Amino acid sequence: MNTPSLLILAGDGIGPEVMGEVKRIITWYGEKRDMEFDVSEDLVGGAAYDAHGTPLTDATMAKAQEVDAVLLGAVGGPAYDNLDFSVKPERGLLRLRKEMDLFSNLRPAQCFDALADFSSLKKDIVAGLDIMIVRELTSGSYFGEPRGIFDLPNGEREGINTQRYTTSEIRRVARSAFELARKRNNKVCSMEKANVMESGILWREEVTWVHENEYPDVELSHMYADAGAMQLVRWPKQFDVIVTDNLFGDLLSDTAAMLTGSLGMLPSASLGVPMENGRPKAMYEPVHGSAPDIAGESKANPIACILSFAMALRYSFNDGAEADRLEAAVEKVLADGARTADLLGPEDGTPISTTAMGDAILAELDASL
Ligand code: NAD
Repeated sequence: MNTPSLLILAGDGIGPEVMGEVKRIITWYGEKRDMEFDVSEDLVGGAAYDAHGTPLTDATMAKAQEVDAVLLGAVGGPAYDNLDFSVKPERGLLRLRKEMDLFSNLRPAQCFDALADFSSLKKDIVAGLDIMIVRELTSGSYFGEPRGIFDLPNGEREGINTQRYTTSEIRRVARSAFELARKRNNKVCSMEKANVMESGILWREEVTWVHENEYPDVELSHMYADAGAMQLVRWPKQFDVIVTDNLFGDLLSDTAAMLTGSLGMLPSASLGVPMENGRPKAMYEPVHGSAPDIAGESKANPIACILSFAMALRYSFNDGAEADRLEAAVEKVLADGARTADLLGPEDGTPISTTAMGDAILAELDASL
């Protein structure tokens, strides 16, 4: 197989700062593990708007379609808040997701022991937590037609969004969840509202079909999404993989994220259909935004972006051992007490900088050899 290719789109605000640490880790893999990547870089979001008047040029879009994986930092910032909707930084991100058809959004919620005190839940409920939420990302209420705000004959207005899913849309994201479960603890819980929504009934039937016909070895359960939200905060460790639609996934993945503490710790992957070389179309990005309040001060936590690269190793380059190595290095650094400001309370000591966190992780990677 050819040298794996990466397109780095660092974006705005803290995006380039946290991506800077990922670039050092990519270099480390080249030098110390003989893992070469063909890396190119380009602009997205406000940075692309400043240079080209658009948050994503056609040339960058074309490049994203060709590479094995896109690594994205973050987009947006106050300088762009008043731009027309069509050229807002977030449009660049949405265009990437849509045109690459990244239908399966993987949001791990993992609680490192060293940070268990940081969660808003009791330590014994979250310590050791490791669950994965698979959210359908390209259909459902955020895309369904008809949509819009309409004037009614009686003078009122009506806002409409349409929740719709087809068989193939449900089956492909269900497969993605079952595949993941096989590499983890072999359990999938599917969440919808089959009690009140026809799209939920179809969702449940199709997930069950995929299970019975293709993945009978995986344990499948179903839950209504509202009950699932309660269970997530009551006893999250009962779950392994949760698969759900776009709207419920948006809410449930943010709920699960908060079990683990800081936004600066949360990675994500968005995967599409396999390309000719067998690798899925893929984009990896931290969940957080461009954090304009701390941008340019080397205060940002680079771990979410670094763990997103670990997901790229695992899901695009099928190298679970190296992903484990990188995740273990992060865990060790946290266990040793390294903390950026977001991981400290007001009286918890002195934070380290973005680059110092990168230094510590690189030192741990060296120690792992
Ligand atoms: P945000 O995630 O940027 O920041 C929320 C809070 O978390 C801030 O206090 C910030 O300092 C802190 N934070 C975020 N990431 C951190 C990190 N790695 N280390 C330490 N602290 C961190 O969300 P926001 O403030 O609502 O949005 C800021 C801008 O980012 C807006 O323009 C928004 O549209 C954009 N945004 C982009 C994305 C994306 O690129 N995927 C996601 C969310 C928001």
